[in-house]
Amino acid sequence: MTTQIRLGEIAIDVVKKDIKNIHLSVYPPAGRVCISVPQRMDLDTIRVFAISKLGWIKKQQQKLQEQEREFPREYLDRESHYVWGKRYLLKIVEKGAVPYVTLKHNKMVLRIRPDMSAEQKQIVLAEWYREKLKEAVPPLINKWEPLIGVKVHKFFVQRMKTKWGSCNSQARNIRLNTELAKKPPACLEYVLVHEMVHLLEPTHNSRFITLMDQFMASWRNHREELNRSPLGHEEWAE
Ligand SMILES: [Zn+2]
Repeated sequence: MTTQIRLGEIAIDVVKKDIKNIHLSVYPPAGRVCISVPQRMDLDTIRVFAISKLGWIKKQQQKLQEQEREFPREYLDRESHYVWGKRYLLKIVEKGAVPYVTLKHNKMVLRIRPDMSAEQKQIVLAEWYREKLKEAVPPLINKWEPLIGVKVHKFFVQRMKTKWGSCNSQARNIRLNTELAKKPPACLEYVLVHEMVHLLEPTHNSRFITLMDQFMASWRNHREELNRSPLGHEEWAE
């Protein structure tokens, strides 16, 4: 069961679990706060605990904001860019042709017209990442549909600010964050399976967790991997 408590402008997701201790987490990029608590703990106790940790929460959120600012992309030669979890060094080739991106050994070659701004380069690359993801998803859906026993009506790849994916279980539509093309392939597979399991169980209840354990025993590792990296754009209720 997930409920939410509010401390001023900070919303905190409360997840009751079969655990003994309280776990408090602040997730990138937006600094979402989640508290996992033992099943029987009442909301007043949780609230008192959260208030006592308010200073820590705010500090973590501030750190995340600074981290975001630490990685501005300038789209210059030798800048690091990630594709499926692998690091590539950007190589800019200015040519009067249609912009395109290729991967060569450890280089990401971005062919662009001279005088393209950083923003225009960003758009070219973002579109390329989107295409990468759009190519990678259908085989995975084909693989998992019979295993999970669901049908995905449609999937969308888009920029998402606070989530890796989302699922509209009634329309059977799944949305995936373009950023997933930067992560190891297993992360995409995990997010996709997570969203597909929502077609069986829309909420993050214990049935959902049991299903995830059943279909993908390693899902917690993938979630951790998504949480860890500074490129991260992560937000899960559980
Ligand atoms: Zn979910």
